[in-house]
Amino acid sequence: MARTSVKPFASLSELLFVLIGISLAAAPIVFGSANILKASYSVENVARSLVKLRRPVVILISSDGFRFGYQFKTSTPNIHRLIANGTEAERGLIPVYPTLTFPNHYAIVTGLYPDYHGIIANWFTDPNSGETFTTRSHEPHWWLGEPLWQTVVKNGLSAATYFWPGSEVKKGSWNCPPKFCPPYNASVPFEERVDTVLGYFDLPSNEIPSFINVYFEDPDSQGHRVGPDDPQITEAVANIDRLIGKLIAGLEKRGVFDDVTIIMVGDHGMVGTCDGKSLYLEDLAPWVQIPESWVQSYYPLLAIRPPAGVSPAEVVKNMTEGLNSSTVRNGKNLKMFLKEDFPARLHYSANYRISPIIGLLDEGFMVEQRNLNQRTCAGAHGYDNAYFSMRTIFIGHGPQFARGRKVPSFENVQIYNMVTSILNIQGASNNGTASFANSVLLPNRCDNEGSVVV
Ligand SMILES: [Zn+2]
Repeated sequence: MARTSVKPFASLSELLFVLIGISLAAAPIVFGSANILKASYSVENVARSLVKLRRPVVILISSDGFRFGYQFKTSTPNIHRLIANGTEAERGLIPVYPTLTFPNHYAIVTGLYPDYHGIIANWFTDPNSGETFTTRSHEPHWWLGEPLWQTVVKNGLSAATYFWPGSEVKKGSWNCPPKFCPPYNASVPFEERVDTVLGYFDLPSNEIPSFINVYFEDPDSQGHRVGPDDPQITEAVANIDRLIGKLIAGLEKRGVFDDVTIIMVGDHGMVGTCDGKSLYLEDLAPWVQIPESWVQSYYPLLAIRPPAGVSPAEVVKNMTEGLNSSTVRNGKNLKMFLKEDFPARLHYSANYRISPIIGLLDEGFMVEQRNLNQRTCAGAHGYDNAYFSMRTIFIGHGPQFARGRKVPSFENVQIYNMVTSILNIQGASNNGTASFANSVLLPNRCDNEGSVVV
């Protein structure tokens, strides 16, 4: 059959969208429910005005280990409500390397790669001082860069943090005020966290924090125990969805749901580690001996710091020879690098805290010191951020996020500029792209004098 001739509009519905677009451009209106708009198509071209709030408020939510795709595991009506009426990274949010919890949470709030923000892993030793960083370290010298709560306060606004890595660190203008910065306590029920956040909206309008973040440990905790495909994950995801529903309902009750910006993210994905995917350093003994004391971490980030007098280049050469031999089981699934030779796309070599020798593992593989014949079958993350399994979610919902819009995947270091742009405050310099926020956010309406009306 011959091709039909090109028509100005492929269908009546497309014509309708264009007409709606023209009318919206002329007189922006707020949709009560915009589910009618198809995904990946938006007719909005300007931010919606605030109705009740005096100034923008951003709630940044992290669901730890929420692998991209979990949102389809079960019915997640509340998450899908945010997606349908907001902007989504269609194929997920890209974490920074290593795809671990602390490096990523701190990248999200600073816009910096771990190279720059200094939290290069969840646990590491400073080679100069010999001090060890753990997830309980709150001394400011570990935490470089300027996290969002500090930026917000520096700009004369207030911020409230709820268990975000780094939030208890008193740094610059941020002193972690007791009423807005509770100390980390994993046993605080998730419902209580949501209730506390909702309570902020009962404060006098000039006391409502402009930036609020809240953290949930799930579904990461289940993912580590049982891997990404267990029914326990499905349950945890359904529970996160229920909490999002509770947040939405509470904001609606207070008449501020459409005014508030909700940004929902995870820090990384999760992958199963079954199927005998282990490598053992003892297997390299014919080529090189790697004592336990040299190893900073095993997997997914193999970090080795040999003592003074041992050449890192020699260790890498000998390890590589062993791994390429046919006798080391799974040897081909580990690539060794001097940190200065580590792939530039991973942004993981400039900081002195990073070990001189780094091993990059294939997805789902594990490195252990020796074979104890223990079959481990669980879940892990921390692998190369190029793996789709390491991706997490990004959903933005609020006045500056177009409804039903899909954007390509992007790295989480872009979120910092997005938040400062929404709050209309001056941010610190960072690794995000200055123009990125403009490409995702709807512009504010400007009056004739050029000042921003929000
Ligand atoms: Zn995590």
